[in-house]
Amino acid sequence: MAQIEVTEESLHRAVDEAVFAQAVTLADKVAGFSAVGPQIEAIVDGIEVSVRVNPFGLDARCACPAPYREGAPCPHAVAAVLTWVRAGPDPAAALRAGLDDVLARLAAEAADCDPDDGWYPDTGELEDLLDEVEDLAGQEPDAARELAGHVAARVTEVLAAGNCLTGDLADALARAAGLRGAPPGA
Ligand SMILES: [Zn+2]
Repeated sequence: MAQIEVTEESLHRAVDEAVFAQAVTLADKVAGFSAVGPQIEAIVDGIEVSVRVNPFGLDARCACPAPYREGAPCPHAVAAVLTWVRAGPDPAAALRAGLDDVLARLAAEAADCDPDDGWYPDTGELEDLLDEVEDLAGQEPDAARELAGHVAARVTEVLAAGNCLTGDLADALARAAGLRGAPPGA
C-alpha cells in the first residue's frame, strides 16, 4: 500500500536550500490553511497556494510569478507543505492512498474482464478501508466525507466499465454514498 510520508527532513532534502530557508520564514505567514487529505490550500504571505502531496512529489499551484523554478516548487508551496507536516500525521492522507490503490486495481480488473463472462470483484479490501473511513468520520468528518465522495465517484466508474456479476460493488457504492452524506459528527 502506498503511504505518503513527508517529514520536515524529507521536504528539506527535496528542495533547494535557499527555497527551504525562505519557506521556513514564510511558514510564519501562513493564513487560511486547510487540508483535505493530501490536498492543501493556504494563503502564504498574501499569496494563494494550492498543493497536492503525491507519493512521489508535490503538485503545486501558486499565484506568485514563479510557481516552479527549475521544476521545483516555490517557497510558498513549500511553506504550505511545511505547515501541513508540522500539523502532524494525517490519517486521511494515508487512507486516501490506500483507497486509490484498491480502486485502481478494481478499475483495471473491470477494464480487463470479458463482457460475456462478467466479473466477480473482490471488495474485501475496499470494505476494510470503508470501515476506516467510517472511523475517520468521528474525528475528521469533512475529510471522511471528501474521501467517501471520491470512492463513490470511482466505484460508479468501475461499475460502468465492467460487467459486474455480484452486488458487492453496488453495496460498497451505497455505503460510500451514505458516508458522504452523513452529517458532521455522525
Ligand atoms: Zn509561490
